[in-house]
Amino acid sequence: MTSYISLPMYAANIDQRLRIIAGKCTNCSIIVYPQRLVCKCCGGKNFDLTPLSGLGELYTFSVLHGGGAPSEFDYEQKMTGDVLCGIVDLFEGPRVMARLADIDSSQLKIGLKLEAVIRRLYDQEGILRYGVKFVPETL
Ligand SMILES: [Zn+2]
Repeated sequence: MTSYISLPMYAANIDQRLRIIAGKCTNCSIIVYPQRLVCKCCGGKNFDLTPLSGLGELYTFSVLHGGGAPSEFDYEQKMTGDVLCGIVDLFEGPRVMARLADIDSSQLKIGLKLEAVIRRLYDQEGILRYGVKFVPETL
């Protein structure tokens, strides 16, 4: 497993990632986050931007213990211990893979209500990368 994203790829859609804005296919109406160049369902290439609530539910998860995480997480893993990863079903429909935070691994359970927050992800190529992590819902 790696989380490597080239700097051009990271920069290409950083605004949508940090503002949690999805693409809604103008042909079939599926909502995709993060937006892709081509719709995975119909092959359409036109999307409207649609903001997401950031709310979702934990579909499944994985706990990466020491040595099992990509090297870009070494610093964080030394600080926090395990690296928590999840697949989250967003309220609006997209299913995304993301990091989990502000929760102990023993408290993770399928169906847990989550909300998106913007957090530091890691330092890569000398640049701090920020992105979405999911934390237990506080509403
Ligand atoms: Zn489509």
